[in-house]
Amino acid sequence: MRVTAVPTRNAIMLSVAAGVAVAAKADTVAFGAHAGDHTIYPDCRPGFLEQLARTIRVGNEGFLVEDFQLVAPFLTVTKTDIVTAAAEMGVPFELTWSCYKGGDVHCGTCGTCWERREAFERAGITDPTRYAAAPTRER
Ligand SMILES: [Zn+2]
Repeated sequence: MRVTAVPTRNAIMLSVAAGVAVAAKADTVAFGAHAGDHTIYPDCRPGFLEQLARTIRVGNEGFLVEDFQLVAPFLTVTKTDIVTAAAEMGVPFELTWSCYKGGDVHCGTCGTCWERREAFERAGITDPTRYAAAPTRER
């Protein structure tokens, strides 16, 4: 999974999202990092999010709506917990995407496809995802 780290990725993506939010007068930017991301990706840790939220507020002072927030509702929960909660909410999993490789269906072998399979398995929920290949031991 370490090879999937992209330097400064979330700072860039969240800055773009914040810019769009400012222009649209939106009050929230939501970020989907989860607790399993903390080990590998420093820009998925609570400290990063707190610092970036402060930077967005300072950098857009006078332009943000008063109650603007940068949220990461899954920051302290596992991917298994997310699958469980999503199933309870009736999330159409077949419309969600995790794979790093792109394409018409999930590759089934990249790190996030592994994590996705594992999360469904641990949650005890049938995974409706279409995978191009069976999992291998390479991650
Ligand atoms: Zn994949």
